[in-house]
Amino acid sequence: MEEKIYLSSPHMGGKEEVYVKEAFAANWIAPLGPNVNHFEESLQTYLGEEQYVAALSSGTAALHLALILLGVERGDEVICQSMTFSASANPIVYQGATPVFVDSEEDSWNISPIHLETAIKDRIAKGKKPKAIIAVHLYGMPYKTEEIRALSEKYDIPVIEDSAEALGSSYKGRKCGTFGDISILSFNGNKIITTSGGGALVARNADHRNKAIFLATQARDDAPHYQHSEIGYNYRLSNVCAGIGRGQMEVLDAHVDLRRKMNEFYKQIFAEQQGIGVFSEPSSDFYSNHWLSCITFDKNTGNKNADGLREAFLVDNIESRPLWKPMHLQPIFKTAPFYGDGTSESLFKNGLCLPSGSNLDDKHRERIRSVIAHYFNN
Ligand SMILES: *Cc1c(COP(=O)(O)O)cnc(C)c1O
Repeated sequence: MEEKIYLSSPHMGGKEEVYVKEAFAANWIAPLGPNVNHFEESLQTYLGEEQYVAALSSGTAALHLALILLGVERGDEVICQSMTFSASANPIVYQGATPVFVDSEEDSWNISPIHLETAIKDRIAKGKKPKAIIAVHLYGMPYKTEEIRALSEKYDIPVIEDSAEALGSSYKGRKCGTFGDISILSFNGNKIITTSGGGALVARNADHRNKAIFLATQARDDAPHYQHSEIGYNYRLSNVCAGIGRGQMEVLDAHVDLRRKMNEFYKQIFAEQQGIGVFSEPSSDFYSNHWLSCITFDKNTGNKNADGLREAFLVDNIESRPLWKPMHLQPIFKTAPFYGDGTSESLFKNGLCLPSGSNLDDKHRERIRSVIAHYFNN
């Protein structure tokens, strides 16, 4: 069997182990310490001025705290992009609130401003104004930040920016992770950079950041004994893991370049292939990190389809994966309200994510190219 080619696997830059060893040498084997501080500072520097970063144990934890900071409580409604990973929506339910799902638009694959406004108006008409909007930069592609911001202001509903897949992406030169009222990042093993597991809440003010850290460290009141006036969580990032993140930040831009090269590689391969579209930036305003490169099959591909290509890859030990199955089609969310026109469902049926890691080399690309050529020419 050939070596397995993954969709997206961890890619160390070199310094990660040095910082992890520092943690051991200083015995900072705890959910605080110098690596956590350095990692937060490097994220802050990367994202730009007026960004306030709290390093956490996961992107999911960051979303949960974002909802709490925005006052989401039992019985509330929160709007969420339907086409996303389930972790965007699950924390709404942790809070005892109800998700209201909104469909994607064709070009960015992200939350449709048109369906979003329909959803907001209808929920208000039904008697409940949504408490927040969760918008996602899917596969690293920025959502329509200006349109979503305009609706957020028109109806006075805050935006939680799920930038878990989009560190290194930007819109009109402004970095993803800086657009929401609160933003979140993920450093899970398969993401653009990894801490093996981890995430961050990125706030627009120090109050939100400090409150996030307070909640993430068990909500201890200022007292010598353990005293609590609020429910806390154990959501802080380990100083050992933060050492990995420190090293990863040094290679982030280089790794984004390599992912974008993978996307170019697929654009070349499929340029001549009738009926296949490579997911691309809608205009030069968008800059995607191309965390995952994806393709869609249209109706002119005969007996060739996403599932057939996925199985052909599997035979050669190459991983590919259907696009995110929309949340409104998930068994667990089947009673949740949904506003849309079938765009995300059609993307799910006809799309495929392809191996996209920054650590893939020419040998890997040759194997991928040959499976694709063989599949379409037989
Ligand atoms: C990965 C991911 C998350 C969750 O991040 P974790 O660090 O794995 O908890 C949330 N939203 C999206 C869109 C993701 O891809």
